[in-house]
Amino acid sequence: MITLREALTLPKEEVRELRKDLIAKARESKLNGYISLDQRGEGVPIAIKDNINVKGWEITCGSQILQGYIAPYDATVIQKLQEAGLSPLGRTNMDEFAMGSSTETSCYGKTLNPHDPSRVPGGSSGGSAAVVAEGIAIAALGSDTGGSIRQPAAFCGIVGMKPSYGRVSRYGLTAYGSSLDQIGPMTQDVEDAILLYNILAGYDPKDSTSAPIDSPKIVPNPERKLTIATVPNYIREASRAVQEGYEKAIAALQREGHKIVEVQMMEAKYKIAAYYITAMAEASTNLSRYDGVRYGKRVEAETLREMYIKTRSAGFGDEVKRRILLGTFVLSSGYYDAYYIKAQKARHLIQEEYKRIFQEVDLILSPVAPDVAFEFGSKKSPLEMYLSDLYTIGVNLAGLPAISLPVHQAGGLPVGLQLIGNLFDEQTLFDGAISLQRGIRS
Ligand code: GLN
Repeated sequence: MITLREALTLPKEEVRELRKDLIAKARESKLNGYISLDQRGEGVPIAIKDNINVKGWEITCGSQILQGYIAPYDATVIQKLQEAGLSPLGRTNMDEFAMGSSTETSCYGKTLNPHDPSRVPGGSSGGSAAVVAEGIAIAALGSDTGGSIRQPAAFCGIVGMKPSYGRVSRYGLTAYGSSLDQIGPMTQDVEDAILLYNILAGYDPKDSTSAPIDSPKIVPNPERKLTIATVPNYIREASRAVQEGYEKAIAALQREGHKIVEVQMMEAKYKIAAYYITAMAEASTNLSRYDGVRYGKRVEAETLREMYIKTRSAGFGDEVKRRILLGTFVLSSGYYDAYYIKAQKARHLIQEEYKRIFQEVDLILSPVAPDVAFEFGSKKSPLEMYLSDLYTIGVNLAGLPAISLPVHQAGGLPVGLQLIGNLFDEQTLFDGAISLQRGIRS
């Protein structure tokens, strides 16, 4: 598959051909990465996660409850893509409302991992990762609330980048955890991630959480020598395959001339607790708008209250219901202090810990997931699935930028690792990523 930077140099006629080719190939695919495809559209085609509004498209977040909802406007990121000569190609599959780590909870059925169809592609942006890895998309957009760009990228062997919170507009992104969500690029390599990031980044007055700061265009400097932290007390929790990848990445970074230091970080269980309480609380309020009146599907009933209950009972899947219930619980008056406030205190400590570390180092090298892509149905309980997010969620709680890139193969399956950067320091993050990619390839 040609890269995004190559595609952007093609004449119009060839771009049209490219779209046709991709659509033809995508229709043959058995992996269920796309939910729908759009033959119209001028510009280099790009795959879009089903929670980002594209005017005129049915946008459903992989949920029954949004069936029939037609987006009345473009998300800011879509506008920016169009201004840069790109155009949305189709909707990619995802966990319902971006809640999950495997793309198994979509109402359209699961997406299969292109490296091994008995395994998950990761999630929640599993469709976006799978279509890029399968060669039926040049690049894609995903969203990352607690790892949903980085983890599927790692499971499918592509590059996935989550920008600093506030760097990319959330206007037109269907909210899950509003204080955590960010849109970001999912690409074949780091160069394309930079290209796409440069298009997406920037202040947007339409998003009140957008950071009112400059977003200078990134020009990566692979010769810059950085201080990069490893986290030995984290690695112990990872599989042999991930540990091998970690050692390989450290050796590559050393060859590239970076200084490697060790840091200690707080136990991951605090991050899991703080993240899931926060994300579920925010989700429960965000999803209250799907009431059968304003969006998508309605189940008719005698009374208004009954209509709400029937619509929401039929429209949401089990995982979404579980989170709405738990989120409502942690926000209820008797438990607000014990759970929600406590989680916010923990979140503050997590932010402080990163701040302390970034006084000493430029980047942190971390696993993305404890193991390679897992088999369908292998996570026995929701809790087990939540625990697998231990390496990604701290980054969202602290609002930091991070990029996942493939560094290793184990038994035919890709292993991805992530670099984590300081707040709004995407420049250093990409400098390190481009150097790590070169070091791994050499
Ligand atoms: N797996 C995490 C969750 O279920 C993260 C999902 C995401 O980043 N959207 O909340």
